[in-house]
Amino acid sequence: TSKQAGRNRVTFFSAEMGALAKARDLVEVELKRAIENREFTLHFQPRFCFKTGTVISVEALVRWEHPKRGLIMPAEFISICEETGMIEDLGQLILEMACMKAISLHQEGRDIQISLNISPRQFEDNRLLKSLETFSRHPDFPRGKVELEITENVLIGDHELIAKKLEAISDMGYQIAIDDFGTGYSNLSYISRFPLNCLKIDQSFIAQLPKSGPIISLILTLAEQINATIVAEGVETREHFEWLRNHKCDQAQGYFLSHPVDAEELPHVIETLNSGAWTGSQ
Ligand code: C2E
Ligand code: MG
Ligand code: MG
Ligand code: MG
Repeated sequence: TSKQAGRNRVTFFSAEMGALAKARDLVEVELKRAIENREFTLHFQPRFCFKTGTVISVEALVRWEHPKRGLIMPAEFISICEETGMIEDLGQLILEMACMKAISLHQEGRDIQISLNISPRQFEDNRLLKSLETFSRHPDFPRGKVELEITENVLIGDHELIAKKLEAISDMGYQIAIDDFGTGYSNLSYISRFPLNCLKIDQSFIAQLPKSGPIISLILTLAEQINATIVAEGVETREHFEWLRNHKCDQAQGYFLSHPVDAEELPHVIETLNSGAWTGSQ
């Protein structure tokens, strides 16, 4: 009967949900241990500048080096870390790795920017400003070459407080980018109120080219008005790349240029892109 079927469905769902909750608890315990053991590494994805025809920036993207499961992508653990608060410790670890990388690139004489992702909870963590300050005082800190990517939902809340924080970060010599631009629900008035250096157009807009052309053009105009650099995310095809170049976008990031790569592969990938000896330059 349908009543019985309904009851079965309920037990099925609760069993399934119980299993899911258990699996999640396991991941939580494992993550805690992983953070203590620093089982994380950064991969880097180039950001290609249309004007210079070179890679002028790279985005640091975290990966979990699980001792048994191998490399685990952020989609599997960032939101759990965010919900449980573990992102505060993980974020500190990522910040340290990214800043040390920026310092070592500078020491090697490489003039390249590093951007890193800051989650909403990490932005609220008091340790963030202290750590940023500490790194900014390092004798080899490349001023203006470390960028924090924040999403629009970081900007929801007390605008005066957020503005103060962003200004302090900016004064220390960090760049500020809005990640996944166009997908948030925040009031756009923040655009002219906060010190923003860069807008990263969300990949969903790029994926819908050329249909999304009008909205991308609008974002490009907006970025120009506030003097911000504009980066297109998720550039996967030559068509995307050409469209963006023709419409005076500043930078492109995506699989068409390069997937994220580990620190060891990065110099080679940058060299190849800079040499013009790749498909995109023709
Ligand atoms: P995001 O910051 O918007 O990073 C871009 C994501 O898009 C990366 O995924 C990148 O590998 C992927 N991507 C790059 N090019 C293309 C492309 O052409 N097509 C498509 N479909 N995807 C592309 P990833 O590394 O898996 O990171 C996913 C998200 O996880 C990031 O989105 C970011 O929100 C978060 N995340 C990654 N690393 C960190 C981190 O260190 N800290 C924090 N708080 N979040 C991070
Ligand atoms: Mg990002
Ligand atoms: Mg993004
Ligand atoms: Mg994203």
